[in-house]
Order: sequence, then structure tokens, then C-alpha cells
Amino acid sequence: MIPVTTFSVKNVALFGLGGSGLATARALVAGGAMVTAWDDNPDSVAKAAAEGIGTGDLRQADWKSFSAFVLSPGVPLTHPKPHWTVDLAGEAGVEVIGDVELFVRERRAHAPDCPFIAITGTNGKSTTTALIAHILKSSGRDTQLGGNIGTAVMTLDPPAADRFYVVECSSYQIDLAPSLDPSAGILLNLTPDHLDRHGSMQHYADIKERLVAGSGTAIVGVDDTFCEAIADRVALAGRPVIRIARHRTLGEGFYADGSKIMRAEGGIADVFADLDGIQTLRGSHNAQNAAAAIAACLVVGVSPDDIRAGLKSFPGLKHRMQPVGRKGDVVFVNDSKATNADAAAPALSSYERIYWIAGGLPKEGGITTLSVFFPKIVKAYLIGEAAPAFAATLGEAVPYEISGTLEQAVAHAAADAARGNAGSAAVMLSPACASFDQYKNFEVRGDAFVGHVAAIDGVTMLIQG
Ligand code: ADP
Repeated sequence: MIPVTTFSVKNVALFGLGGSGLATARALVAGGAMVTAWDDNPDSVAKAAAEGIGTGDLRQADWKSFSAFVLSPGVPLTHPKPHWTVDLAGEAGVEVIGDVELFVRERRAHAPDCPFIAITGTNGKSTTTALIAHILKSSGRDTQLGGNIGTAVMTLDPPAADRFYVVECSSYQIDLAPSLDPSAGILLNLTPDHLDRHGSMQHYADIKERLVAGSGTAIVGVDDTFCEAIADRVALAGRPVIRIARHRTLGEGFYADGSKIMRAEGGIADVFADLDGIQTLRGSHNAQNAAAAIAACLVVGVSPDDIRAGLKSFPGLKHRMQPVGRKGDVVFVNDSKATNADAAAPALSSYERIYWIAGGLPKEGGITTLSVFFPKIVKAYLIGEAAPAFAATLGEAVPYEISGTLEQAVAHAAADAARGNAGSAAVMLSPACASFDQYKNFEVRGDAFVGHVAAIDGVTMLIQG
């Protein structure tokens, strides 16, 4: 845990006592702050109170007494409208911050030079964050991985000179971290997402820009126009900028040329690393993630050889194009996180002969946008409520069966792939659907897939447990 010493003996209000909110409240108390915590859910308040965390209804509180208001990133700061607590803080002139802001203040107070890499973007955040942490860890560094990726940042070990922090930041967390100042900040890409929570694309981009604008070195993917403009602005402001591209060459920076990550300096490029054969980093989207990770690791002093070794041994993230098993030439891929057609596209584009398990709770638009990949699909195995609609879209273009359950789908796909005997192929769960018709969430669905794969006769599992 990181005790928050920067608010010692001060009054701090906190709203949102979910996982990260509770961790933040504990960290504030441990550092000596006087906390008044609240949540709409009485059970969460009772749980905090039972631990000795000060609680109180913030509607009745004396807001003038607070030095800061700590808001959970899940609670609206601006859109669709500010939460009532944000209005009360504003009226009393109390600053509104989040857990990442508390972390950066602690770091500045106790170990301002410890390497800190922050990662944001619309897509690829978790992969890039996990990849960087893996490279650092496997090169022997004390590595702390947290933020939006799942481990609340306040539960990490306290800042120390030789400790490396890798923190995934959602836009909500950036919005609540006005003094965010990583040693290296990564902005991977920007496409419309969560605009209900940000109002407009420009506002969303402005928030993301703050992460790189405050970085010691800014690492920016310049494949989209928003990010390109941001890279230019940050450079103009005098910050070092490393540009990353997956769709074009660069005179300066890192870009993907097929599976090769090229490093360009003064118009001359050489191959820094080759991702060919690294199952967990297939596809040009992963080339973007890898290029950004390489740049960040170089900034914090990792040697090129250690970076290359880390890329090679990256185990991948669960449920995201994760190779989980192999039988002969057939690889079994868990892409359960692909809960809509857009998210399934990278996986479908990354393999050439696919036995595709799809379906679940359908999303608007179905799978029509995936038709460009239909020629690569040897056969589709449809499950869940979406099966009839997906069957109608596949029509004559792709052979399919309505498998109904994931268990049937895996068994049939594995048997067909084993018979296929035409070189390498993938049996892939990339459902393009939510899971809730058959599973609690995409993680449980992915774990079920892994279980069914493990039950196949003669399969070699590529993951543990
Ligand atoms: P995030 O944390 O931003 O949601 P993840 O790393 O969890 O991203 O990846 C989620 C999915 O997004 C992946 O399964 C893949 O389909 C897609 N993806 C990953 N990296 C990228 C990227 N750089 N650009 C576009 N899509 C990506």
C-alpha cells in the first residue's frame, strides 16, 4: 500500500467506495488524513466504516473544511453531468482529484526520479501496459503494475528510487490527475469511445493529451489525425516526443514494417526487433503496442537486448487473442474480450485459416462489418442468442453450424480442424458479442473456453492453470 502522506492531518472527502475507492480511503487513513468517505451504496459505506474509515453523508458535510475531494474514476466528473458531489466541491472551491493524482504527489514527495510510465489510448492500453511491465520484470527490475488494468494504484508498493511504475490510465483517471507527470507517457491512439462520458471527441482527445503533455518524454502513436496533432503540439511546447506508426514509415521514431519494428533516426531506419513468431504479439495493432513499449523501455534505461528478450517471452493478456493451447498445427486462441465486431476484427485479421467460434448476446450491427474476413473462415461455430442472426449474415459465404454451447463449439471446431490437415490453423473464440446470455462476464466465458480446450485429447496447453 502507498500511504498518502501529502494529506496528513488534513480533512479529505472521498466518494465512491468500490475496489479502488476503498483502497484509496485506506491509503489516506494510513498516511494520517481525516477522511469522510461516502457512497450511494449503504453496504459499501458500512464496509468502510467497519474498517475504521471515517464515513459521513457528504450532502450534510462542511465542504469548506476539506483540503481535497477524491472521486472514484467511475463517477461522472463532467458528462453527462457532474455528480452532485462535484457540484458541492466546486461551490466550496475544493479541488477534485483521483487516486492517480494522489500517487503522483506521493512519488514527487518521496522518489521524484523513480521511473514512471503511464499509458493511455482508446485501444491497446492493457496489452501495452502488461508488455512493458513484463519487459521490466524480466530484466530484473522491481516493477509495480497498476491503474486501470485492475490493480488499484494505491495498493502498489510505495515509491522508492529504484522502483519502476507502469500505470494504465483511463481518460477518467487522467481527468482527475491534473499534475500527472510520468517519466514516459504513452498515447497509443484515439478513436471515438465513451463519448457519453466525455461529451465530444475533442474533449476526449483534450483529456488524453494531458497525459503526454505532462510527460518527461511523450510517446505518441501518430496513425490517427487527433494523435498526430497532439504529437506536434507537445513537440512545439518543447517536450521530447517519440512518434510511433503502424501504417506508415517515419523519418524519426518507431514504425512497423510487417512484423518488424523499425527504429528511425535522422531518416535512416534499422530493424530494432522482429515480432515474427511471437504468438502473443500478432497483428499490426500489436506492432503499435510493441513499438510504444520499446520506446518507453528505452526511455527508462532498459537495454535493447533485454527489451528483445522480454518481447519474445511475453505471455500475453488473458482473453485477448491469447494462444492457450496447441495440437499439431492448430492453435487455440482465447479472444473472449472481443465483445463486439470492432473488437473481433484484429483477431480475425491476424490468422489465415480460422475455425471461428462466435455469438453470445448480440450487439447492434451484428457481424456485417467483419465480412472482409469471411474468406479466411473455414467454418463458423455459432453459440448463444446471436446464433440465428449471425447465421443469416454468414449465409452462403461461410460454412457454419449452430453449436449452441461453447462446449459443443470447441469440440466440433477442434475435430474439424484436426481433419482439415491443410497446414496451420486457429480455433478461435472471438465472439463479437457480450457474454451475459450464457456467462457472468467475458472472463468467465474465456475461462470456460480454456477448460474445454484443455479437455481435448492430445492438446498441449500453452498457459498454466
Ligand atoms: P484496452 O485496455 O485499451 O481496452 P486491450 O489491450 O485490453 O485494450 O485490448 C483489447 C482489444 O483491443 C484487443 O483484443 C484487440 O482486439 C484490440 N487492440 C489491442 N491493441 C490495439 C491497438 N493498438 N489498436 C487497435 N486495437 C487494439
